[in-house]
Amino acid sequence: MSEFDDAHRYLLARWILPISDAPVENGCLVISDKRIVGIISRADYEKLPGPAKRQNSIEYGEAAIVPGLVNLHTHLDYSALKHFDNYSNFFLWIRKLIGNSWQWSQEQWLDSALVGAREVISSATSTLADSSPSGASARAIALSGLRGVVGLELFGIDEEQEEKTFEIWLQKYQGFMDSASKEPSLKKALEDDRLQITIAPHTPYSVCPSLIRRSLAWCKEKGLPLFIHIAESEAECRWIASGEPQLDDFLKEAFRGELPSTPWRGHGLSPVQHMEKFGLLDHQVLAAHVVQMDDDDIELLARHKVSAAHCPRSNSRLRNGIAPLMKMITAGIELGFGTDSAASTDDLNVLSEARFAWDLHRAANKEFSESAERALYYLTLGAARALKVDTKTGSLSEGKYADFSVFSLADLPEIAQANPFECLVYGGAQAKDLVVNGVWLMRDGYIADTPKIGATERQIGADFTADKLGSKI
Ligand SMILES: [Zn+2]
Repeated sequence: MSEFDDAHRYLLARWILPISDAPVENGCLVISDKRIVGIISRADYEKLPGPAKRQNSIEYGEAAIVPGLVNLHTHLDYSALKHFDNYSNFFLWIRKLIGNSWQWSQEQWLDSALVGAREVISSATSTLADSSPSGASARAIALSGLRGVVGLELFGIDEEQEEKTFEIWLQKYQGFMDSASKEPSLKKALEDDRLQITIAPHTPYSVCPSLIRRSLAWCKEKGLPLFIHIAESEAECRWIASGEPQLDDFLKEAFRGELPSTPWRGHGLSPVQHMEKFGLLDHQVLAAHVVQMDDDDIELLARHKVSAAHCPRSNSRLRNGIAPLMKMITAGIELGFGTDSAASTDDLNVLSEARFAWDLHRAANKEFSESAERALYYLTLGAARALKVDTKTGSLSEGKYADFSVFSLADLPEIAQANPFECLVYGGAQAKDLVVNGVWLMRDGYIADTPKIGATERQIGADFTADKLGSKI
């Protein structure tokens, strides 16, 4: 740990859970500007001299400080469609989703994404892996102060149009990056490495293999993850394996025209095998859902080091089944939890997602014995590894960005307070503070107002920084 000075801030709590190391009881997290300096004991904090210490300290008391949570699969763009349809089957639901949003203006997309960003902040989540049709979620992340990797979505099943389709996507990407010159919040978020923009080929049934291959090559060149939904529904499996027309009507509607020939399907392969056949499984790939998998599919994901986003509440809502989580864990697949969009789940609280997952898998499988501590790993460092951002965030480690959440345990009985992992994962702990990049986005349960486009980094979370922190001592 470096020398202490006036710029350091001291955050004291009953529990500090670094995830990368053992929990520290009666500890003090030390940060300086955007970075974590380290963790010291309360006793060592008491020995520190000087008024700077007192001015720059917060006493959280009976609370747990944990790394900012990571939500590994979202679509903030669709946040305004919360509860628009909780009862249709998957493909009818997608049709309605497209029907409700395809004429939205850029302003409407942004308003929707900002609603989602506030929900994310209120659930003490610092980092998102988001797939976005419009790019609005990236703007919402930049404006609200969150950290994220946003995949601009790509569609295209016509192999003959593959080059042209990718060129159009590249223009969209470049247009987005160029717009940062006019939007200071976006520019700053990109410069600070708080926001990364990547590509998200939608699925293996809505993007032909050659286009996914081109996307993967682009990601590998840039060192970015590739986001894709794989093996989400039984209909996807049948369409890819058989060459039968189950999804043809849906795809005609989605692409607004006649379907081109699709010789790349109909080989009797599962979606995961299909990806492998065309050389599309890679450690840069983050696969959302992966519900419909047998043991061979799981082995393929593990062998190619593909990461997975487990989204059990969306899978349940859309009647897509239960993903083989225990087998994925046993196979050593890097994974985390994803809420999916507000249009297919109750909320964007990834902690609720983890709680549902543990309840679901315990009910479905007597052998499931993963702990609350393990769930918190998948909510933080595990998900950061899956997203390839673990050098920046995911644990309370020296040198990483100051991304952390504070949960109060004050209203719980002592026996529960002694078990912070259980309180966080199974309920009772209250999200109070969220800090991203050293900036308070939520303080005592109050969320900072989101600045308008054009705001600078300093204005983000301004209500909660320096002066007011001192008053909490
Ligand atoms: Zn999704």
